[in-house]
Amino acid sequence: MSTNNNPNNHSNHNNHNNHNDESKGKIASYWEVKTKKKTDSDIDMDIDTSTEKVIICNLCPRCCEIREEGRGVCSVRGVVDGKLRSFAYGVSSGLCIDPIEKKPLYHFYPGSGVLSIGTVGCNLLCKFCQNWSISRNKEISAMSIKATPKQVVNKAKEYALKSIAYTYNEPIVFIEYVRDIAEIARESGIKSVAVTAGFINEKPREEFFKYMDAANIDLKGFNNEFYSKVVGGKLEIILNTLKYVKSETSVWLELTNLIIPGINDKEKDLHKMCEWIASNLGVSTPLHFSAFHPDWQMDNVAATSLKTLIAAKEIALSKGLRYVYLGNVSCIDSSTTFCYQCGERLIEREGYVISRKFSSICKKCGTKVDGFFEELPGGWGNKRVPIQEF
Ligand code: SF4
Repeated sequence: MSTNNNPNNHSNHNNHNNHNDESKGKIASYWEVKTKKKTDSDIDMDIDTSTEKVIICNLCPRCCEIREEGRGVCSVRGVVDGKLRSFAYGVSSGLCIDPIEKKPLYHFYPGSGVLSIGTVGCNLLCKFCQNWSISRNKEISAMSIKATPKQVVNKAKEYALKSIAYTYNEPIVFIEYVRDIAEIARESGIKSVAVTAGFINEKPREEFFKYMDAANIDLKGFNNEFYSKVVGGKLEIILNTLKYVKSETSVWLELTNLIIPGINDKEKDLHKMCEWIASNLGVSTPLHFSAFHPDWQMDNVAATSLKTLIAAKEIALSKGLRYVYLGNVSCIDSSTTFCYQCGERLIEREGYVISRKFSSICKKCGTKVDGFFEELPGGWGNKRVPIQEF
């Protein structure tokens, strides 16, 4: 494990060896220069009053202090020539067209295709990361697909896609790229979708969600100790992001909660979490409980049982949540949308595909399903189309 994985280690001196102009990256947003008294270990024996200039990244609550040639905890923001740079601007580790249901978003233009783009790095340090080969990758060279924001949007247009998703790794850490793509996408009538854990400071939060139309935000648990020891974050920050998105933006919000056996599956916490969602975000917020598989630093923890997921779903329904889904499992009705008034089956899915039924208005009682729907579902189906070049 790298020392970068210590959430309290705000100083980071990992060198990146690329010094050509291109590798300097794009000058980043949200940073300041601070003069700081050197710590004992930094001070030359003879100069005990020395100070130094450090760059503070103010994008996320870690507020990393970064010295020349160092990088922040997320690994894609660092200092070159005295300025904070994003090394993840205009380059991607992967682009692919997926069904929107894969994000997961079940109430945002179901059946439509979405151009998904990701880079590398993450500002959280989840020990259970299900995507660690991307999120913990520190190699800038892993982002080998170059594309300007305009080219990304043009690719979405070429395939007549409804939206672009910023996903695979935490999009907050490449906010400048996200912002520029999303701004052009909006002008072109293409929606933007964030798949994020929501660990961001207030000011950039406003900019990040400004051009978003939908988001799936991870609520990884409902316990402070779990967030600080296992996730490397703070529950309160995530709850503030969720409340902000719900009450101060028009972004369509869905939530994902990955249930890890013995780690974040206490019934008491699930009750508290679902009560909090119902009273702070509203019962119309879809909740996706997702099954964990052993991975990263938790490869000795068992996969989540179907029984645990079903029990979690029952808790959520008992708190009045209207739409509760189970992911990463195959079970009848795990992804069916029911009418919350009369229980009629309205949208049936097999995997990511809308199967036999699709209706966003209940034919039996006239109740409308919450979310964004067209009269007919999109026809993207289960296809997965990798994009290699522009
Ligand atoms: S975005 Fe990255 S560099 Fe900035 S504070 Fe967060 S982890 Fe540190």
